[in-house]
Amino acid sequence: MGKIIAVLNQKGGVGKTTTTINLAAALAKQGKSVLVVDLDPQANATSGLSIDKNSLQASTYTLLTADTPVENVIIDTHIEGLRLLPAAPDLAAAEQELVSVMARESVLKQALSGIRDTLCDIIIIDCPPSLGLLSINALVAADSVLIPVQTEFYALEGLGLLVQTVQRVQAGLNPGLQLEGVVMTMVDSRNALSGQVIEEVKKHFGDYLFKTTIPRNVRLAESPSFGKTIFEHDKWSKGAKAYKNLAKELSVR
Ligand code: ATP
Ligand code: MG
Repeated sequence: MGKIIAVLNQKGGVGKTTTTINLAAALAKQGKSVLVVDLDPQANATSGLSIDKNSLQASTYTLLTADTPVENVIIDTHIEGLRLLPAAPDLAAAEQELVSVMARESVLKQALSGIRDTLCDIIIIDCPPSLGLLSINALVAADSVLIPVQTEFYALEGLGLLVQTVQRVQAGLNPGLQLEGVVMTMVDSRNALSGQVIEEVKKHFGDYLFKTTIPRNVRLAESPSFGKTIFEHDKWSKGAKAYKNLAKELSVR
């Protein structure tokens, strides 16, 4: 059965999209059939995979609000084994439009139910930086949640609320939801603070903290502007190595 992972942290700019795209590409390189779901109106995962967000016939917006069948939304990317449910900027309106819909928290789960078992080994959902209805839909649809945490002084800030939200969804709409793990991003090994921050997060999350950390790496930051994943942009970079290791660690869990 296809596993669904929501990549979520309501804090902006912590590396959700970078992790979604490059982890997905690393898993596809392992031979898995991977689907990325862009659930962020910023559509960064869509652009990062070289798809023009402004010329889409169908998108996660129409999937959630207009009953567009998922087969009509799914598109191939230039990477073998990696497909995408792209986002368009109008997805921002879905947050409002869904409010009046029946079972509004389960719309994505319903939409993915037909393909999770037949079309893919793994589905990775890139969430927006909020805990609104789009992110709740991701948590209800998902088997697990992967939390990227930027390695900075305020790293733990906001994680309490995030964990509470996950627990609320577990208690109600999705009892099977698990914590996949926490991954430290933008780690600067020359900075002593990084080690302290990682220790602090480890105290809270124990074995849920991935051993693999993602270094701050300019090649990772550059690659979306070329519509490339790190493996096409610079496969020998530290960033590529890190996401390859993260995919390995995730696969053996
Ligand atoms: P948002 O909350 O806006 O969706 P996000 O959590 O998805 O943001 P990203 O877009 O992945 O975060 O990353 C934020 C910025 O940091 C981007 O410019 C990205 O290129 C850069 N970045 C992410 N990870 C790294 C890294 N390991 N090294 C260097 N730059 C990084
Ligand atoms: Mg993002």
